Amino acid sequence: MAVNDTLEPIELDDAQLERQRVVLLEKRDRILGMMRSAEQNSDPDELRVADEMDLSSVGYDQAFEYRLRDRDATLIKKIDKAIRRIDAGAYNYCEECEAVIGAQRLIARPETDLCIQCKEKQEHVEKMYEKRRQRMTSFEA
Ligand SMILES: [Zn+2]
Repeated sequence: MAVNDTLEPIELDDAQLERQRVVLLEKRDRILGMMRSAEQNSDPDELRVADEMDLSSVGYDQAFEYRLRDRDATLIKKIDKAIRRIDAGAYNYCEECEAVIGAQRLIARPETDLCIQCKEKQEHVEKMYEKRRQRMTSFEA
């Protein structure tokens, strides 16, 4: 049996970090490209109108599209942050507890900044709030 047969997460080495940077940049380009083509596919008249009006006066379809863009923009922010974390030499480590995130997890989710334990904790807290919110609204009904 190997001495190093352990479940400790492994750090990415320099070559792997550079590979992650390329993956992140490609993902970023893809999202920006999709956002641009969504703009081009829109009705030019609608687009012009949307430019002239404020957000509160655009229709439902456009409001929906803006929300999608909002989600993409959030992902781009996460990707930018991950690239900054690579530059700063912090990419391997959890933002919350500074533990090693682990090569496997980083390769599966290149924009993550939390180790699996902190991520699960975060999701658990979100679920608790969600349950509480549901209880509150069911009392209101
Ligand atoms: Zn952590």
